[in-house]
Amino acid sequence: MIVAIDGPAGSGKGTISKIVGEKCNLLYIDTGATYRCLALKVLENNIDLEDKDAIIDAASKINVRFTLDAKTYLDDIDVSSKIRTPEVSSAASKVSSIPKVREYMVDLQRRMANSDDVIMEGRDITTVVFPNADYKFYLDASINERANRRYKQNLEKGIESSLEEIKKSIEERDYADMHKEVGSLMRTDEQTYIDTSNMTIDEVVEEIRKVIGR
Ligand code: C5P
Repeated sequence: MIVAIDGPAGSGKGTISKIVGEKCNLLYIDTGATYRCLALKVLENNIDLEDKDAIIDAASKINVRFTLDAKTYLDDIDVSSKIRTPEVSSAASKVSSIPKVREYMVDLQRRMANSDDVIMEGRDITTVVFPNADYKFYLDASINERANRRYKQNLEKGIESSLEEIKKSIEERDYADMHKEVGSLMRTDEQTYIDTSNMTIDEVVEEIRKVIGR
């Protein structure tokens, strides 16, 4: 079974997919983390974010792995926290706009789902990675709600941040994610649309479980 979930930054798709995965015995695959790992690699190797050839080369060799306890490994090093910084978020948005990079990453993501029932989330899962998925969802929330969630997450992690700046960076990322040459985030008639703005995590989880019947 393949459950595909798309949605913008802060829509809750990561948190929700992880819980649905645990409850329904589906392997959770966070495709954003694959782009984040590539971005981290590019930043750590001082590759210029405009140097497309060097970025494509790095994408062709990337070695990313997820473990069952939801940790992300890049070249066998646990980078789960390192890939969540604002710098990596913005670099991930940039590297993922290169069509050839997406070819490599989509191929990697499909291979990750090879032998298991999966719940996979990202921006182009319902449209490009698994257009024939058994179930397709689009999770959404208002920009204010998404910024608030990120702000609270930061507080919990002890990171100081400005709500206005978070809002601005989410808006920039939304625009970039919806205007890619290939693999743009988009809504289609085949997705079940869920606006999570005024829902609890449990409510969203239950709504998805009702649809997939698990
Ligand atoms: O989902 P997350 O915020 O971790 O994704 C980081 C960035 O990776 C996104 O802003 C988006 O630009 C890119 N991405 C993508 N396609 C996906 C998942 C993420 O382009 N399937």
